[in-house]
Amino acid sequence: MHLSFWRDLLQLLEGSLSRDAIRLWLSPLTPLLISDDKLVLEVPNCIHERIVRQRYLDAMRRAAHALSGKTLLIDFVLVSGGQTAPEPQPTRLPSMARQRKPSYLATLNPNYTFQNFVIGSCNRGPCSAALSAARKPGKKHNPLFITGGVGLGKTHLLQAIGAQTLAEGTHSFICIPSDRLMDVLMEAFKNREIASVRSRLSSVHILLIDDIHSLSGKNQIQEEFFTIFTALCQKRGQIVITSDRPPREIPRLHQRLVSRFEAGSVMQLTPPTLKTRILIIERKARLLGLALPPRIIMLLASRIRTNIRRMEGALNRIAAHATLSGSIPDEEGVEQLLQDGLFDGEEHSVTIRAIQQKVADHFQIKIGTLLGHERRGQIVFPRQIAMYLCRKLISSPYADIGAAFSGRDHTTAIHSHRTIEELLPSNTEARETVDALITAIRS
Ligand code: ADP
Ligand code: MG
Repeated sequence: MHLSFWRDLLQLLEGSLSRDAIRLWLSPLTPLLISDDKLVLEVPNCIHERIVRQRYLDAMRRAAHALSGKTLLIDFVLVSGGQTAPEPQPTRLPSMARQRKPSYLATLNPNYTFQNFVIGSCNRGPCSAALSAARKPGKKHNPLFITGGVGLGKTHLLQAIGAQTLAEGTHSFICIPSDRLMDVLMEAFKNREIASVRSRLSSVHILLIDDIHSLSGKNQIQEEFFTIFTALCQKRGQIVITSDRPPREIPRLHQRLVSRFEAGSVMQLTPPTLKTRILIIERKARLLGLALPPRIIMLLASRIRTNIRRMEGALNRIAAHATLSGSIPDEEGVEQLLQDGLFDGEEHSVTIRAIQQKVADHFQIKIGTLLGHERRGQIVFPRQIAMYLCRKLISSPYADIGAAFSGRDHTTAIHSHRTIEELLPSNTEARETVDALITAIRS
């Protein structure tokens, strides 16, 4: 087993134990022996040993299983030799602290669980696929490729698979961000250890890779990743990958990786609807112990639309304010508190012109045609979508929207807005088009 196993184990435990627990009780242990079926740790004294056994042994066993896929025997030896070392005689490992090998694991954020993930139409598909990847790895969505803009929950879902796997204790997994994967592979090439790293990464039940778009243009790494990917697939291992865009839109990504990714399930996270935003804000406020009045929840949900991380930032600020002043700020107070950039700034940065251009590009028509008076369905539909988006994204007055479309009047803008709004609930294709356009316009 690899020497960095103990460090990986500690890192994994950071997801389920407190920092203090790790610092006080687990970090002082020194691994003496790590074999395929055994982990022997040196403990400073017998009280320390008792506490670790009572409080942390179960969690350590589960984590060791998650990492190695095996049930390891975990044993302890006293520093002063108060107990004979168990058989087989432990080989003292070279000081692990000095070996600064890059670790394989992302620390799992303890909040990133399925229980804490609010489900709405924007994320139902990806969430249920992620759950099935955790429960029945390699069976249905393989590879599972989750895409979506910043702050929409990609990392949360990926780590939730890790957390679920850890809790169930039946499968092994590795969770690693792509830039870390890159470091690990580069280091392995340098130290001629690529075979062992490859075998480690492709021998788990579930491999979770965050932000694969970072591998853009990294030829050698992509080739190595392809080898690992293929080896893992042959063993029916589950692979889950996240990216800020769909496979074929990642620049300079090898075509064979693109086709492998597309052969599985590509699932898109889209910006949450107002209803989901309200639910998320309510849930997060509750976690922070904040009793927010509905008007404040509504204010936040209507002003922060595209990035859930920003909602958390806003709530943290409100919570800090409430602690300091002893009360929840009113609407005006919240506006002031969040003035510097937490509210979505689209009102100022996105223009009607920019929306018209994106829509024209999307439907591959000239902007003049989009704004003109042609009444063919292929033109009328994009035109209505463009007007709808002007209202939805920048709340432009209908009169301004009409005027920007070759001097039409406000009734045309109202009609277009209403037509699309009524179409969306029943028409998946239109909904996907609108979502894709919103993402493109905001990016
Ligand atoms: P990404 O990786 O897509 O940039 P993250 O997964 O880091 O986004 O999510 C940003 C923040 O928003 C995290 O704190 C995450 O917990 C939270 N979040 C995202 N989606 C949801 C959701 N559906 N329910 C609850 N919290 C969410
Ligand atoms: Mg992320």
